[in-house]
Amino acid sequence: MKCNRCQKEVLPQDSYDYYGQILCEDCYIAALQPPKPCDPAAVASAKAIRKQLGQTGTDGLTPLQKRIYEYIQTKGKVTREELANVFDLPQWELEKQFAVLRHCELIKATKEGNQVYLTLW
Ligand SMILES: [Zn+2]
Repeated sequence: MKCNRCQKEVLPQDSYDYYGQILCEDCYIAALQPPKPCDPAAVASAKAIRKQLGQTGTDGLTPLQKRIYEYIQTKGKVTREELANVFDLPQWELEKQFAVLRHCELIKATKEGNQVYLTLW
């Protein structure tokens, strides 16, 4: 049998079932642990690319990312829910934008009590 993701030949006893997909061990582990917003390797590469391009601050961001950054700058700290409402974005889209800003070390998440706030880096 073949892994549904990487197409590697995999023995039945080494295969894993992931929501009906046959996966090899590597792909199964990767599927269980999707990359997180605070992945240090991703941060390093995002920073390296920006440095290469001579980008600092909000250079190289999309207009939406800049608006999110500026909104947080004005407010000091905001919740994800507030951002989702203000920018009329679904949560997953917001997480994607947040991951980029986090990678560029422009904004970060801080926890206060049970509430998570986004603040400038
Ligand atoms: Zn695989």
